[in-house]
Amino acid sequence: MKACYPGTFDPITNGHLDIIQRAAAKFDEVIVLIMENPRKKCVFTLEERCAMIEDSISSGNVRVVVGSGLTVKYARSLGCDAIVRGIRAVSDYEYELQQATANMMLESDIETLFFIAKPEYSFLSSSVVKEIAMNDGDISGLVPAPIVAHVAATLRERLG
Ligand code: ADP
Repeated sequence: MKACYPGTFDPITNGHLDIIQRAAAKFDEVIVLIMENPRKKCVFTLEERCAMIEDSISSGNVRVVVGSGLTVKYARSLGCDAIVRGIRAVSDYEYELQQATANMMLESDIETLFFIAKPEYSFLSSSVVKEIAMNDGDISGLVPAPIVAHVAATLRERLG
């Protein structure tokens, strides 16, 4: 079975990485799908976000793809059986429920499966990483080790 894990990943955090690793242990293949979203103002370019995820993953059955348009249509074009998303708190639930229901109406045979965030990552988001780094805080432990220095320096330069 093949799953895709769509998101913005601006930048990837240890919470995202945990979901990727847990999904990779359950599916034959996981595609991390960075969706182009003109409405979201990102700090990192698509190429940078893609490179940071590639530098962070070690599982052989995970790859990174950049997509645009409707996520569920893109998932179908990639041959995915499922869409994986993460839920940190009740506040994530309403939005995720709306997205998953819309996707179900568009492609009824692609299931959305939710992974519950590990407690140690339930507060963690790309926005929290940006906020801490731009104020010179320590983001080691929040983003994957291979990209800590690059993320910290880039965020200080662009947002600080
Ligand atoms: P999007 O803009 O699509 O919400 P994100 O990159 O913010 O993209 O998040 C992608 C997915 O990962 C979402 O389902 C989100 O709830 C989940 N996620 C984000 N941070 C965490 C975390 N710390 N633990 C578990 N899941 C997370």
